[in-house]
Parts: sequence; C-alpha cells; structure tokens
Amino acid sequence: MDLGIKGKWALVCAASKGLGRGCAEALADEGVHLVITARGSEALEATAAALRLRPGAGEVRTVAGDITTPEGRAAALAACPQVDILVNNAGGPPPGDFRHWDREVWLKALDANMLTPIELIKAVIDPMAQRGFGRIVNITSGAVKAPIDILGLSNGARSGLTGFVAGLARQPKVAGRNVTLNNLLPGAFDTDRLRTTLQGTAQKTGQTVDAVAEARRLLAPAQRFGTAEEFGAFCAFICSAQAGFLTGQNLLLDGGAYPGTF
Ligand code: NAD
Repeated sequence: MDLGIKGKWALVCAASKGLGRGCAEALADEGVHLVITARGSEALEATAAALRLRPGAGEVRTVAGDITTPEGRAAALAACPQVDILVNNAGGPPPGDFRHWDREVWLKALDANMLTPIELIKAVIDPMAQRGFGRIVNITSGAVKAPIDILGLSNGARSGLTGFVAGLARQPKVAGRNVTLNNLLPGAFDTDRLRTTLQGTAQKTGQTVDAVAEARRLLAPAQRFGTAEEFGAFCAFICSAQAGFLTGQNLLLDGGAYPGTF
C-alpha cells in the first residue's frame, strides 16, 4: 500500500534508537525526507547512515541536541525545510516516589514530556494548516491510560499533553485543514529503555534480569514485547494520506495488556 507521503518532510525527535528510530525507518521506506534528532551524535549518525541505505529513502538530515531545550528545538526546526510530519518523542522521566520529587523534578518532566511537544506543535501547525496537510504523532505511554504507580511523573506530564492535544485536534481550523494529531501509547516494547527498566527491577528485587523480563513479557496476552518495527509501521500509517479522518485519538499498542473493553 502506497501511503501517499513520498517527498514530504518529517521531523522525528529522539530517533537514534528505539521507537523513534522505528518511526524514522518506516517513514524512510515511504520516501519521506527526514530530520532526525538525538542528544549524542555517534548513534545518531550511525542511524542516519542506515536509514540512507534503505530502498526508497529520501534525504536524511541529523541534528544532535537536547530536544527539551529551546536551542535543541530551534536547531531541529531550522534543519527541516518544512515540517509536514512531526513525531514528538523524548526520553521518559525516571521512576520514583512522589514524596521525593520537588518542584524542579516536576518541571523537568513537564518540560520533556508535555511542553516540548506543545512548543514544537506550536511552531509547525499553522503552516501545516495553510498547506492543507499535516500529521502530528506524539509518542506518549500506556501509562496515560493505565497509570503505573512508580511512574507518577510520566502519568502526570503525559496526561497534561494528552488533554491539550484532545482540544487542539478538534479545532475546525486544524482538523478542517487536513491536519491530524494523534497519540501513540506504547506498552512494553523491546528497546534500551525497557532493558534499563528491567535491569533496575532486577537489582531492586534480587531476581535475574532474565526472570524479570520473562515475567514482564507474559503480562501481555500477546506473550511478547512489541518491536520498534511494528511501532514504526503503525506510526507511518497514521502519517499517511489515507489517515486524514483519524484525529484526536489515543492509540494503545500493548499486545492486549490493557484489560478493559474500551
Ligand atoms: P530508547 O531509550 O530506546 O530511545 C530513546 C531515544 O531518545 C534515543 O535515541 C535517545 O538518544 C533519544 N533521546 C532521549 N532523550 C532525548 C532528548 N532529551 N533529546 C533528544 N533525544 C533524546 O527509548 P524508547 O523505548 O524508544 O522510548 C521512547 C519513548 O517512549 C520514551 O519517552 C519512553 O518513556 C516511552 N515509552 C517506552 C516504552 C517501551 O516499552 N519502550 C513504554 C512506554 C513508554
């Protein structure tokens, strides 16, 4: 299926590894030109080199920098001739007990997982509406739908983004101009982030990492972790020409782990 986005420009944030990279790969396969970002340049350049080798790939530009800073966002936007597709992503906040979090800790989480995507949306959405095409995908978390107690910073900051996006997506001057905003909610995906979390649990509980991973894997009825490739393919479809009627949605990819009917 041709997704009808060949030649468009996408800014994919935090894309040297994991879910962001999966999205960049799937968009590259559709002939979308890419600007990808990450904090360190080594992994970023290696990912860009691999993306350029994919059949049908367009131009691939890199911007090393922290997307949660104004400078990082300005550099990423400046590298993209026009942003037709925006994939918002950044590292998740640390786990912990809210009794130990002060205002500074909260502001850092809000900056990374709520205000950074909102700032980037603000920079790109009006030109998208003027051109009559825009696709904005925010990588959030299954924790927005089913909170995880030790991830209070994530539950809170990402829920703030979700509420904001729900209102913006429904504005006629946005939805009526073929600009869509949707959130992708990952469950457990096999990435560095997941491996770090599993190692942390293993250290805390005295179990082996393998035992912790096995227990976590079996929590999902799919009996496995998701892959960045399947996450990216789903993201690319949401960015497609065909997905113009899909907006303001929270789409959970978790192998059936969420137990509710809706
Ligand atoms: P990952 O650790 O595999 O990759 C993170 C990527 O983001 C890397 O390329 C890293 O360089 C980049 N990055 C991190 N902080 C950045 C910043 N401030 N500026 C620029 N680049 C930055 O992580 P992942 O598993 O792909 O997770 C992506 C997002 O999805 C995170 O917010 C994570 O919390 C969330 N999430 C992941 C899972 C999962 O199971 N993997 C589940 C729920 C939510």
